[in-house]
Amino acid sequence: MMQPEHQRRAYLRAMGIDVWLPRDAVEPEAAPEAQAAVAMDWETLRDTVSACTLCGLAKSRTNTVFGIGNSNADWLIVGEAPGAEEDRRGEPFVGRAGKLLDEMLRAIGKRREDVFIANILKCRPPDNRDPKSDESASCRPYLQRQIELLQPKIILAVGRIAAQSLLASDEPVGRMRGRAHELDGIPLVVTYHPAYLLRSPSQKNKAWKDLCLAAKLAAESVP
Ligand code: URA
Repeated sequence: MMQPEHQRRAYLRAMGIDVWLPRDAVEPEAAPEAQAAVAMDWETLRDTVSACTLCGLAKSRTNTVFGIGNSNADWLIVGEAPGAEEDRRGEPFVGRAGKLLDEMLRAIGKRREDVFIANILKCRPPDNRDPKSDESASCRPYLQRQIELLQPKIILAVGRIAAQSLLASDEPVGRMRGRAHELDGIPLVVTYHPAYLLRSPSQKNKAWKDLCLAAKLAAESVP
């Protein structure tokens, strides 16, 4: 998948490679804080996220939700954005959907502490609306750096927003799930969001198949 242009430029700059632009080009830059995420360690990244004011969500959040879990995890789970409870507690997936996510993980022999759980957005969109594209774009370098630091064997994108954002696609989840994708050389599987599974429990068998596919790809993935 192609990286967004501003992100590619930030990476090239961080590698010390000059990026030449036509004189009249208008460069859609990520803000400096997010560009600098390219080289951060876990602690600096966490501190930077908690002080982030790159988008309007900084004004309405209670806490940033950096992500949680094992920083050596083989599995990275990516959801959409914090909800009300997550915003209050600063931890992802702690509501009802989070309980189901924990059960899904248990079904494949994993605990929350064994994996790393993050979201496309680190801050809660008011009234649980969908993330706006500028919010996702501002936040993306943070998730990107988390992926680089983790180097997971598998990424599990839960729900439409995570899947479409990570894969830069507008396909519905139903068409993206059930097969292997790839993000920066890392296998990626799409499945239904646990909040959707709570409303549509008959789809749980499909989510189970997705988890089995993810486990298989993780086992085959080179470290
Ligand atoms: N839904 C998500 O996608 N992420 C959370 O952290 C909580 C609910």
